[in-house]
Amino acid sequence: MDLPRIERAVREILVAVGEDPEREGLRQTPSRVARMYAEFFAGLHSDPAQYLTTQFTETYDEMVVLKDIPFHSMCEHHLLPFEGRASVAYLPDGKVVGVSKLARVVEAFALRPQLQERLTSQVADVLMDTLTPKGVAVVMQATHSCMTCRGVRKAGSIMVTSAMRGRCRSDARTRSEILALLHP
Ligand SMILES: [Zn+2]
Repeated sequence: MDLPRIERAVREILVAVGEDPEREGLRQTPSRVARMYAEFFAGLHSDPAQYLTTQFTETYDEMVVLKDIPFHSMCEHHLLPFEGRASVAYLPDGKVVGVSKLARVVEAFALRPQLQERLTSQVADVLMDTLTPKGVAVVMQATHSCMTCRGVRKAGSIMVTSAMRGRCRSDARTRSEILALLHP
């Protein structure tokens, strides 16, 4: 990541809005923001599938659910954060992964310019492709700063997205069972 370039850009924004980037309070702001962006977008330099390469053979064939994984991400339309919780479930087909790896996958996809809809699908798709389970379900709920502190200013509104794959999508019973488990 090109930190000096981010710093120059932030300084430009300060000048453009009519601020003095040399005043004491703002002098370190460009470098602070650059480091913050490096954190926010660290996922751009990682491959989320790498967290799923260590798999364990297992005959357990009931739903595996990790609920309420906290995440924060950056809305790509406004570069403002959105944050919330993700719940990830899959129906194993002879293989499982370490449960913390599900949280790693959510984080790796979240730390890049994102849309909640795409983030939800990406987590479901990488699990389907890498672990090849019988089904995957991902539900995310988040509050978006671009909605709460600007625009329509609707504080407290929560956006819910879900992505169902395999049997979680095609089998009505599995689908309603998993939705009942995952929804708040
Ligand atoms: Zn936005």
